[in-house]
Amino acid sequence: MATAAPAFATAALPGLPRTLTSRARTLTAAVRKRCADLARTETPSGDATRLNTLAEDIAAGYTATGATATRERCEHGDHLVLNWPGRHEDLPHLLVVGHHDTVWPVGTLADWPVEEQDGRLTGPGILDMKGGLALLEGAFALLADLGQRPHRPVRMVVVSDEEVGSPDGRRLVEQHLRGAAAVLGLEPAHPDGRLKTARRGSTRVRLTVTGREAHAGNDAAQGVSAIDELVDQLIAVRDLGGQPGTELNAGRIDGGTRANVVAGRAEAEIGLRFSTTEAQRRTLDTLAHLTANRPGANVRTEVLSSRPAWPERTANPLLRHVRSLAAALGQVVDGAPAGGAGDTNLAGARGLPTLDGLGAVGGGPHARHEHLLIDQLGPRIALLAALLAVPLPRLR
Ligand SMILES: [Zn+2]
Repeated sequence: MATAAPAFATAALPGLPRTLTSRARTLTAAVRKRCADLARTETPSGDATRLNTLAEDIAAGYTATGATATRERCEHGDHLVLNWPGRHEDLPHLLVVGHHDTVWPVGTLADWPVEEQDGRLTGPGILDMKGGLALLEGAFALLADLGQRPHRPVRMVVVSDEEVGSPDGRRLVEQHLRGAAAVLGLEPAHPDGRLKTARRGSTRVRLTVTGREAHAGNDAAQGVSAIDELVDQLIAVRDLGGQPGTELNAGRIDGGTRANVVAGRAEAEIGLRFSTTEAQRRTLDTLAHLTANRPGANVRTEVLSSRPAWPERTANPLLRHVRSLAAALGQVVDGAPAGGAGDTNLAGARGLPTLDGLGAVGGGPHARHEHLLIDQLGPRIALLAALLAVPLPRLR
């Protein structure tokens, strides 16, 4: 029994849909500029100085919309926690997760500046996710303009290390998941604008093999080749990728010193994707118990980062809510599962009502043609503002 969407939104806040849509349109130019400005500070994961400069800038932007900002120290770049008061402070908070690091090294802007072309804004990290950060700022600015506050308290965690699997930020996200009514991610939408309703789990594993160095001509028999051992291990491990729910990519290998030395050490970094928790458990268990084939060789498995699978839910009241808000705004918005992992995996894996892809609409994240669609900024600002302002229905 669904209430008609426009009635639902208008009942909560009369006249809101039309106001949001028209005001969002007038804010688009400012948000477009903000997207570009954020992208003009290059922030590769691990570059603490640049990440901290941008964190300061982001905090100032959100503070201007009524947030209080806290810097969470991290030697690889500080994270941010932001809090906006709601009209009903006693309600459980709405959590928004984002990140201000990108995959692009410093210097990328030199031959790929932030530019506007044919309705697209391109630049390193513009879609993933400088655009998402700017959109949320726009949504809060819109509410502040209207003298509105979010319905419930809103908390946001912006981590500095999402693009390397959130090794430090993860703890902060997990801390603020506790007690959250729902979790929203500002990652880019699917290219067609759909939101993300599930994500595969993602784990990075390093295999380190040690053997024994020896002269390859004179004393080969004294040596134990770490490279031969690693190759055998990788061939065996590759079969794990054929099992249901698991995908595997041996993304980097390294080892040995020179052609006339039996290699004493070799390593490989493996990327794994899981569509179910069961596949993840099974595969990681196998990897943790690898044993060397050669006497004198040793194999060690380390998990470098891990995000659990966020499985698709059959009934998705949060998506239904967003769909009806979108309809009230004259938009059509739907959702679909995503292949990649992000910090919303942590929420979805725990069964919390979670949606991602609420950031910018565009294409080419992590690629040279990364861009966002300028005409989609206005609708997204309005949708985010509606999500903040309108009461959440029962989600569980
Ligand atoms: Zn991202």
